[in-house]
Amino acid sequence: MATNAMTKSNLIDIGANLTHKSFRQNLSQVLERAGKAQVSDIIITGTSLSGSREASRLTVKYNQEQQLVRLYSTVGIHPHDATRHSAYNYREQLVDIVQNNKTVVALGECGLDYDRNFSTHDDQKRVFDTQLQLACDYNLPLFMHERSASTDMLSMLANYSQHKNFRGVIHCFTHGSLDILQKYLALNLYIGITGWVCDERRGKDLAKLVPHIPLDRLLIETDAPFLLPRNLPKPWPHENEPSCLPYVVKKLAECYSVSTDEIAQRSTENAKKLFNI
Ligand SMILES: [Zn+2]
Repeated sequence: MATNAMTKSNLIDIGANLTHKSFRQNLSQVLERAGKAQVSDIIITGTSLSGSREASRLTVKYNQEQQLVRLYSTVGIHPHDATRHSAYNYREQLVDIVQNNKTVVALGECGLDYDRNFSTHDDQKRVFDTQLQLACDYNLPLFMHERSASTDMLSMLANYSQHKNFRGVIHCFTHGSLDILQKYLALNLYIGITGWVCDERRGKDLAKLVPHIPLDRLLIETDAPFLLPRNLPKPWPHENEPSCLPYVVKKLAECYSVSTDEIAQRSTENAKKLFNI
């Protein structure tokens, strides 16, 4: 399968939505293909209370069933889900999941999304602020999402950036400018790049920005099942899944003019350091 994009070193997919219904029937095979494509670790994204519980459950189940890929999870409420959760005692429930699951490695997916506006801005800010506090209180890195909301995002992050436990990644960095990228980097944040960068038309601007991300801040992710890398050999028989990660690496190697091994090694080192895995 992924032979022409293989690297010698292993890869860590820092964001895969393996709780998504498209993986319900075939997760064992998905993990087997990931292992064969050099993916050694996957962090399953939690985007709601029930989704975060499910992400943790999957890590336990599949870490017992197979040894090819180590699974971890995040615990958080996505900005799209902020309004839906604001009536609940979501803070206590997030704490409960964090405290009772050993495979939790980050707080998130959390952040602000003013593009789709599925939740009001006030609800998004309130729910995000709670998660910023929790990440600092429980000494966890943040797994963050931002769309068309960089001004509010940066001002909220500034309130926490001096905290000794503050650290995290802006996942799926896609549409931001060089100025915004540099502001996130100035907060010592990592930047997550998905298969969006592989799209020869839509990903062109991102491909130009990528070399401005220092290699010690770069993380890689599939955001599976979304964002199928467009440089995959065709026809590709599956949806986007962690085994597609070598194609993100391949494109990044082209953007930086370095070897795929260098991208693999550096991003793996960074993921281990940030998520303490
Ligand atoms: Zn996201």
